[in-house]
Amino acid sequence: MDFQLSKTQKEIQKAVRDFCKGEFDKDLALELDRKHEYPTKIWKKAGEIGLIGVHFPEKYSGQDMGCLECILVVEELCRNDSSIGASVALAGFASELVLHYGSDELKERFLPEVAEGRMLSAGAFTEPDHGSDITFLNTTAVKDGEEWVINGAKTFITNGGIAGFYNVLCQTDPDAQPGYRGMSVILVEADRPGLTTQDVGEKMGIRMMATTEVILKDVRVPLSNLVGEENRGFYQVLNFFDESRIQVAAQALGTAQGAFDRALAYVKQREQFGKKIAQFQANQHKIADMATKIELARLITYKAAWNYDQGHIDPKLTSMAKMYAARTAVEVCDEAIQLMGGYGYMAEYEVERFYRDAKITEIYEGTKEIQKNTIAGGIIGKMK
Ligand SMILES: Cc1cc2nc3c(=O)[nH]c(=O)nc-3n(C[C@H](O)[C@H](O)[C@H](O)COP(=O)(O)OP(=O)(O)OC[C@H]3O[C@@H](n4cnc5c(N)ncnc54)[C@H](O)[C@@H]3O)c2cc1C
Repeated sequence: MDFQLSKTQKEIQKAVRDFCKGEFDKDLALELDRKHEYPTKIWKKAGEIGLIGVHFPEKYSGQDMGCLECILVVEELCRNDSSIGASVALAGFASELVLHYGSDELKERFLPEVAEGRMLSAGAFTEPDHGSDITFLNTTAVKDGEEWVINGAKTFITNGGIAGFYNVLCQTDPDAQPGYRGMSVILVEADRPGLTTQDVGEKMGIRMMATTEVILKDVRVPLSNLVGEENRGFYQVLNFFDESRIQVAAQALGTAQGAFDRALAYVKQREQFGKKIAQFQANQHKIADMATKIELARLITYKAAWNYDQGHIDPKLTSMAKMYAARTAVEVCDEAIQLMGGYGYMAEYEVERFYRDAKITEIYEGTKEIQKNTIAGGIIGKMK
């Protein structure tokens, strides 16, 4: 067993740290958060220097690296800024569906665009009436000659309205029993007639990121836009979650570490009752608890990523990592605010934004309750 990162992995961390130091800016983050505006310039630069799609093969402009290297990038981005970091980390959201299941033509057309920071991608699974339960969908895709005709509505879609394409999970066999055996993923380019988006409204956190409804009305795409196998889409998406949930765990881990860094620096310089507040044992215990939770979140997140890279896909472990890291992010950010008192509550001190950004990690890519279902199912197995 080896708990050391390799030289290359440490170099990746440093490269991301240097990038963040040069490009991230607190005042810009505050402004973009307030305006609900995507950090376009930073995303593009991240693509130019190879921080997006590090797990894509080189022929698709990636770095030929694994899930572990990918999550090191995500962690470091979110540690430096929870909002800008998450925006960049999710720039290529769900493009892994194309990577793992798409035809060569789809890969060649879309993956380099994503990795080079020229196009954002999106995964459209959730519907207004189907959130945690996507075992049956109202969005349908019907064959008409050489085309799919898609009708339906998706909601809460990250990068909606600014993405170049959507991986849409559709019901392609409405008679399938159970329904999930009749679903397919179909790639829909954003400029297809009949596709419109509508902002979902003000959000608690990750405010720089676009979240929209995606409405599909008689949208026609060629049959070749099918991603993977017809009627296997549900399983493909579940497999995708085994990878993407580790990335969300890394987002949570970085967010927790970033809030911790800020709180630690603060307690070492703030004085009350004639002492640094870091000298009060109550505060020291908070620091100890926060650091321990972060360490545990890091261990399980790295282990899940390592496991994925070994080809041992274990949904139980992935869900544990996502659930634990997300809870850690929420709890650590909460304590960071507490340690910083009234200042922690103010936007200028950043941790309130980290706190708001942390919460989504317990909701998207499967809520913490859904993660528990997966964990328990993996342990108990099928019961008759
Ligand atoms: C900002 C944001 C971005 C998002 N981005 C995307 C995206 O890019 N693509 C996409 O497809 N979706 C996206 N989502 C959707 C997200 O994945 C769903 O919101 C989430 O899966 C929960 O679905 P729901 O909101 O319909 O809640 P519901 O499914 O209605 O759940 C409500 C509550 O009931 C609980 N619950 C439901 N079923 C069970 C059960 N069987 N056992 C125990 N508890 C249960 C849930 O845990 C939750 O606490 C995003 C959501 C948000 C808020």
